[in-house]
Amino acid sequence: MISTHQLTKRFGPVIAVDGIDLDVRDGDVYGFLGANGSGKTTTVRMLLGLVFATSGEIEVLGQSMPASAAAVLPEIGALVEGPAAYPYLSAHANLATVDAAGPDGSRSNRRRRIDDTLDQVGLDPSDHRPVRTYSLGMRQRLGLAAALLRRPRLLVLDEPTNGLDPQGIREIRELLLTLNADGTTIFLSSHLLAEVEQMCTRIGVVDQGRLVLQDELATLLAPTGRIEVHTRQSEWAAELLGSRVEDRRDGRLVVVADDASVVNAELVAAGIPVSRIGPLRRDLEDVVLEATAR
Ligand code: ATP
Repeated sequence: MISTHQLTKRFGPVIAVDGIDLDVRDGDVYGFLGANGSGKTTTVRMLLGLVFATSGEIEVLGQSMPASAAAVLPEIGALVEGPAAYPYLSAHANLATVDAAGPDGSRSNRRRRIDDTLDQVGLDPSDHRPVRTYSLGMRQRLGLAAALLRRPRLLVLDEPTNGLDPQGIREIRELLLTLNADGTTIFLSSHLLAEVEQMCTRIGVVDQGRLVLQDELATLLAPTGRIEVHTRQSEWAAELLGSRVEDRRDGRLVVVADDASVVNAELVAAGIPVSRIGPLRRDLEDVVLEATAR
């Protein structure tokens, strides 16, 4: 759906994006992660033809960008850097200005399409207040509604939950997951690890303009071949498990083993009370910190 080859952007002496090879596949919820200033927005802007690359190639929906922008952009829903809206118009009127002709773009069903889309992002279709009275979170929802209006195959979203409260973040997450289940591929940038961990199937991590990691989330967070055991008899357990114990601290042991039930049976048979046991997994924070360690 999106692929780039050695994509690079310089602003004078600053290399904002440094030879990135993105690979976003059909059906992905792809999380493009990076700290502030790491080059996410610049990358997203290049994908959409909003800024020219210094060098490298971009393909979106199988077509070269920005050369094929006129054909590609109508197929994409995009939300970049705070939604733009006419402040003196209502949300409905704003969407009518961007509605143009989609695949299903006749005027007769425009009102219903706009109402449905507002409803989908949690905005009240009958709210006629001008958008200038909206909170940042409401504007963000409106921007998302504009991106969804044409029922795109691909959504490109720069920090889509920016400015939303926890409830709003959850609603948008659920909406995006529903859209994805219905076949929409989603590429979103974020600096929020938890958001990406809960939503994405594939991630790319950018650090100082370079893509330092790109993989399936399930692969990155796969079991580590270690079991975590919590017991108040940790000394006794360590004695029993011997050289398999890799670490012991505060009643928690890390044991080299693949099957927690086998270790559990062994401990219980010896009369050691186990309060918690399970495979040790890395979380996304560990993965990202390791990838960006300098
Ligand atoms: P944030 O999360 O803060 O938006 P980001 O990961 O999106 O950060 P970018 O906005 O892409 O990062 O910025 C990457 C680098 O390029 C930064 O050092 C930034 O200062 C620089 N940069 C971005 N746009 C310009 C510009 N128009 N002119 C000069 N430098 C720029």
